[in-house]
Amino acid sequence: MVSMAEPDTNALRRLPAVATVLATEGAALLLDRHGRVAATDAIRRVIDDVRAALRTSPGVAPDADEVVKRAGNLLDARPAGLRPVFNLTGTVLHTNLGRAVLADSAVEAAVASMSHPVALEYDLATGSRGERDDHVRRLLRELTGAEDATVVNNNAAAVLLCLNTFALRREAVISRGELIEIGGAFRMPDIMLRAGADMVEVGTTNRTHAADYRNAINERTGLVMKVHTSNYRIQGFVAEVAAPELAAIADAAGVPLLNDLGSGSLVDLARYGLAKEPTVREAVEEGARLVTFSGDKLLGGPQAGFIVGDRALIAEINRNPLKRALRVDKVRLAAIEATLALYRDPDRLAERLPTLRFLSRTHADIEAQAHRLQPAVAQHLDEAFVVDVADCQSQIGSGALPLDTLRSAALRIRSRGSQDALEQLTAALRALSYPVIGRVSEGALLLDLRCLQESDEASLLATLGELDTAGLAAHRP
Ligand SMILES: *Cc1c(COP(=O)(O)O)cnc(C)c1O
Repeated sequence: MVSMAEPDTNALRRLPAVATVLATEGAALLLDRHGRVAATDAIRRVIDDVRAALRTSPGVAPDADEVVKRAGNLLDARPAGLRPVFNLTGTVLHTNLGRAVLADSAVEAAVASMSHPVALEYDLATGSRGERDDHVRRLLRELTGAEDATVVNNNAAAVLLCLNTFALRREAVISRGELIEIGGAFRMPDIMLRAGADMVEVGTTNRTHAADYRNAINERTGLVMKVHTSNYRIQGFVAEVAAPELAAIADAAGVPLLNDLGSGSLVDLARYGLAKEPTVREAVEEGARLVTFSGDKLLGGPQAGFIVGDRALIAEINRNPLKRALRVDKVRLAAIEATLALYRDPDRLAERLPTLRFLSRTHADIEAQAHRLQPAVAQHLDEAFVVDVADCQSQIGSGALPLDTLRSAALRIRSRGSQDALEQLTAALRALSYPVIGRVSEGALLLDLRCLQESDEASLLATLGELDTAGLAAHRP
């Protein structure tokens, strides 16, 4: 017969009641920090767990202070909400880390719009109703050369809205070689379907010719679409119809051409030593009647989607009821306006716009920063790890120029012992109060410093000081 363990009645009797724990000073602090409901729940859970354990085996009953401490640990271990991290992955526009970091002026504008009423749809000159797009319309026209502009939630929304406005129950013509999928279930065929457009694919995966478009356009065609294949490249025996030629074909048929640039840029990046990405102004000059692009990719602003183009077409888009469902709020509009304003002064853009500042940093600059930080970082880690400075390659991210990497420098962390220890360290860095996210490559953890602002160096080192190196050392071989 199996003998049942005896309940530890003595210890059970000494177990404090919830009310007793709540009366302590420590519990008052816990309530203050986490709120009454969460704190009381955690205290009850600790007591219940101990009681369950003491029912089957002997043990020591924790006193009220110990219960508070354990409840505090439980509360601290809850999954974190949205919080800032150090992006040391080397991917500047990391979609999973929120893409672009905003410029100071954009942050200030956003904060001001949050804490005060703003003239969002109010014309201050006349005292009558205004339009929210007006705040950015003028800037977008000036920066792109387009007749008019409108803003929506993101570029996916911009494409959806264009398709729904011009190709609902009609046909949208697109090259097979441009049927892109972008992360997060944005697949061109699916978007067309949801927009109510009949997709007409022309050409083949690698080659599409002018005649393919001409033959496909008929009286049911609502839109011809060109997509900048931002996140991949087809090389070899390829042919595509360049935008100016396609614009002429669409114009001759009286159908608008939409050019979806994806990232797009408002300035020639070659000016900052980067590879060329098509600019919105060029796309407009090439004759597309509508051009769409993202706010939080190369542009370096908040999440948004822009549609620029012919005045009459933009007016039609603005009359589509879906526009209302896809519009942006005052906070983002404020940040967008401030971000766009920076583009009026290209000479100082790289200094003021974090995305461009990160992208244009030289290898020498990043390497010098790595050498400066190396001793302090090494000191915060256990002797089980070696920290040195290594060359690495950064990426732009968000599908922009996927094949062009940027030479960068990293703090390279290797384990003297097992790979387990390195994995433990990687996890420990993610668990810090200000999580540090690097990338693992060839058995080393790389902290690519391209996106570490000098003003954040001290807080990175302070955060690393939290590392429980004793815990890590336990995994030494
Ligand atoms: C990124 C991208 C989109 C989607 O833009 P979001 O702003 O992420 O919604 C659409 N088309 C292309 C070509 C893209 O690169």
